[in-house]
Amino acid sequence: MNEFEGRFSPEVELQFRQWKEKRGVEGVLFDLDDTLISTTELFRQQFELFFEFCKNSEPHLEINVFRKKFKELDDNSYATHGVSLEKFDMIVDALCKEYGTESFWDGLYIIHDIYNISPNIFEGARETLDVCKEAGLRIGLITHATDRWTDIKLDTLNLRSYFDHVKVVNIQQHKHKTDIHWKEAIDSLGIDPKELFAVGDSLTGDVEAAYKAGVKTLAWISPLWHIYGRGNLSEDVYIKVPNIGSLIPTLIANG
Ligand SMILES: [Mg+2]
Repeated sequence: MNEFEGRFSPEVELQFRQWKEKRGVEGVLFDLDDTLISTTELFRQQFELFFEFCKNSEPHLEINVFRKKFKELDDNSYATHGVSLEKFDMIVDALCKEYGTESFWDGLYIIHDIYNISPNIFEGARETLDVCKEAGLRIGLITHATDRWTDIKLDTLNLRSYFDHVKVVNIQQHKHKTDIHWKEAIDSLGIDPKELFAVGDSLTGDVEAAYKAGVKTLAWISPLWHIYGRGNLSEDVYIKVPNIGSLIPTLIANG
């Protein structure tokens, strides 16, 4: 960076470098969805459009009841289907059976459209990546999505150049992101897990998985989908961060 354009002052940049030296951190591995970019917001937006479509097809439908049923099915599907595309077939099938109609199938494209759209980047995400880059860290990305959707996000948001390595854990092949995937991403980044810090919003798929892969510096971003707040990892193992914009100041404050 030729000149400082971000929100972090030179003092914060210096403190972050000192933090990095003290912790012996050489690299950082970020989750993407709901860590750097606002993916749940995109899901909610498309879900609302789908609910509207269904209400138009079946005018007697009470949208609040319908929304609640949909959310229950969506939450429950995580254990059985992960975040695969097929989970929406299962959800729409269940809703069609419950309401005695086939018309909801015609709105499924609204949900599938999610995978053609890039979510917005969170405030402070780009500045956080800049500070990491400026501090000389190697930066990796580990994302649970599809190759195509990842390309759309990275290209639309112009994020690709930040990353020394991008690992896509394909949602169609793997229901959940695990320590095996984190291990593969860490190896590809070429950094000892003890010299890495990991950042993600899924307590199980990011923080616990990275911990199992040997990462000792862990930051958990408050999840926007409550399902990602489920986990068994002891709270003293990781640093809790409300959002990506407060990651750097929180790390510095924690020493
Ligand atoms: Mg995530």
